[in-house]
Amino acid sequence: MRIATIVGNRPQFVKAAAVSRRLRASHEELIVHTGQHYDDLLSRIFFEELGVPPPDRQLGATSGTNTAQTARILAELEPHLEELDPDLVLVYGDTSSTLAGSIAAAQAGRKVAHVEAGMRSGDRSMPEELNRVLCDHASDLLLCSTPTAVANLDHEGIRAGVHLVGDVMADVSLAFASVARERSRALVELDLVEGEYVLVTAHRAGNVDPPARLRALVELLEAVPLPAVFPVHPRTDARLRAAGLQERLEAAPRLRPIAPVGYLDFLALLRGAAAVLTDSGGVQKEAYLLATPCITMRPSTEWVETVDAGWNELVDLDVDAAAAALARAVNGEVAVRPRPDLYGAGRAAERIGDVLDSYTPAR
Ligand code: UDP
Repeated sequence: MRIATIVGNRPQFVKAAAVSRRLRASHEELIVHTGQHYDDLLSRIFFEELGVPPPDRQLGATSGTNTAQTARILAELEPHLEELDPDLVLVYGDTSSTLAGSIAAAQAGRKVAHVEAGMRSGDRSMPEELNRVLCDHASDLLLCSTPTAVANLDHEGIRAGVHLVGDVMADVSLAFASVARERSRALVELDLVEGEYVLVTAHRAGNVDPPARLRALVELLEAVPLPAVFPVHPRTDARLRAAGLQERLEAAPRLRPIAPVGYLDFLALLRGAAAVLTDSGGVQKEAYLLATPCITMRPSTEWVETVDAGWNELVDLDVDAAAAALARAVNGEVAVRPRPDLYGAGRAAERIGDVLDSYTPAR
């Protein structure tokens, strides 16, 4: 088959790293980069470090609201899809690129495969949740990371084309964990001692866009009793500056805001941390895989298995709940809990390849 893969942001480059290699063993793949994340720190470094083939087409959806970005990608994709003439369009995750890619493909009469189908947080106020639901309903092949995702689709009446394949991000973090250990010098450079610091990430719209939530986030981070390293996402950086909170964050004695880091450094920082405080989707899974207790600054999650296993606690932006969860992580209470395989043991890309090999897209 000729497959057009649509990617646009950091976690999608990570996911494509696992799948592209396997796809190209038996299919022709063309990568379209929508431009959602375009700078070196959020885009180029991932292509280089993870060996993702360079994009065949580059679009320019670099900024704007979710709606504006989705509209722009939709409009820009149409002529490219016509020229590339794919049998199947592959989309990942839950961003504007995912939604626009699936709709543009479905409108053009192409088959759509969605990697990470069926994830639901149950929170429709998240732009990602709307993207997930709409994309799944426009997809022909629904490639699910977990049995929960399969059940979520069943609940919405989607049963045809559903495959439980495991999680492709797990493939990448398992494959690169030892490379990160060998090559990354992040801990040394940041003067961090393994097991004695906290890693922080935060960029969800619900946490950084409303000024009151952003202030609550800063207060929560100021109260962390350990050294905390915080690679700041550009969206968060912009919101902090606009709200005048940037200096306050920098003045917090134990908190160290830094620029976003590459994948290998991030894995090394995550593996060495006593705990991670995050509102990311991908980081919750990666923390579980690397046996780092996760404290999620959201009221809900799609990655419910990590919570059920006792390795992830949802604290939203509650300072006391975060402190209590952190204390449990630091005193070793979490590390003794069993950590069963939840995400396909690093074989998701292989299973996706098998599904695609036996798929015949009738136009
Ligand atoms: N990540 C990274 N450097 C950073 C922060 C995150 O390489 O400074 C990686 C992380 O390992 C994960 C992905 O980016 O694979 C998560 O992306 P993000 O949190 O932006 O997106 P989400 O998963 O929340 O959609």
